[in-house]
Amino acid sequence: MKELKALEGKKLTVVGYGSQGHAHALNLHDLGMDVTVGLRKGSKSWEKAENSGVKVATIGEAVKGADVIMILAPDESQPELYRTEIEENLKEGAYLGFAHGFNIHYERITPKKGTNVFMVAPKGPGHMVREIFEGGHGVPCLIAVHNDVSGDTKEIAYAWANGVGRKVGVIETTFQEETETDLFGEQAVLCGGVTELMQSGFDTLVEAGYNPEVAYFECVHEMKLIIDMVYEKGFAKMRDSISNTAEYGDYITGKKIITDKTRETMREVLGDIQSGKFAKNFIDETENGYKFMNEERAKYSDSKIEAVGSKMRKMVFSK
Ligand code: NDP
Ligand code: MG
Repeated sequence: MKELKALEGKKLTVVGYGSQGHAHALNLHDLGMDVTVGLRKGSKSWEKAENSGVKVATIGEAVKGADVIMILAPDESQPELYRTEIEENLKEGAYLGFAHGFNIHYERITPKKGTNVFMVAPKGPGHMVREIFEGGHGVPCLIAVHNDVSGDTKEIAYAWANGVGRKVGVIETTFQEETETDLFGEQAVLCGGVTELMQSGFDTLVEAGYNPEVAYFECVHEMKLIIDMVYEKGFAKMRDSISNTAEYGDYITGKKIITDKTRETMREVLGDIQSGKFAKNFIDETENGYKFMNEERAKYSDSKIEAVGSKMRKMVFSK
């Protein structure tokens, strides 16, 4: 495939075989690239990766001699991993890739001189990056170059994005823009915003005495069906497809839920991302053993909405 030319004949290493790692490694492997997955000794993913047909080696071994290395371990573990396993094994002129700008933008990793640094950030969860690829399509990717020693780092980034995302909508950005917009999007809209919205709607109906199962369908299950229409056709076509009653309620009520105060809060959230305050708090949390996150996980796993959801999914997906 012409679009992958910059990667042909090169030794590619993917560090980590989690959500993004398995998708990058397998998509590029399926396209005939020479991919090795780097894992810690005794990794629980070792056998899984090997069984999928990719080469597997310890991280140090996989980085040694590799031309292009994509780091796909969790963001918070990357600085230590870079210091202990990657840096000493990086060959002069290697291309070091990231799928999120966090560690470069907040200067938690400063790659050694002589290293090309680029980003390919698929705009989708890793499991979708693989699933959509297997279906013959791809997810869009953002690419950026932070350091270009060899003069062709952008071509490497394009080729990696073309492979992982099948050349669907590659957009050039910077590490700063990707980091700040990615963090904002997931917090304010995609993850934090949406789950809290669904939760609040569900709670409101249940508190008012409605059947939790009906509340779940209305406030959680149907979210996907509506969003699928937005994804495929945009707001107008989605509104075309819903009833006039729903569309009228949409215009009247949406702005009562997302108020000027909410927009002001969004600007504050963005400010904390831009100033590095959010990044600092997150790093503190990881150094504190994920205490707050574990409490939140426990709270949600015991919640009514999840119990109802589990029952509803059995009903909806059993046939
Ligand atoms: P995961 O949490 O899924 O990564 C897990 C993998 O990393 C496993 O193979 C694990 O090894 C390995 N790993 C974990 N800790 C360490 C460590 N200390 N040393 C070495 N290896 C380790 O990560 P994600 O895929 O979620 O994220 C990877 C990158 O991709 C991040 O930069 C993230 O921001 C970015 N990204 C993620 C998206 C997503 O969909 N999740 C979306 C877009 C970008 P083992 O198998 O041995 O446990
Ligand atoms: Mg994202």
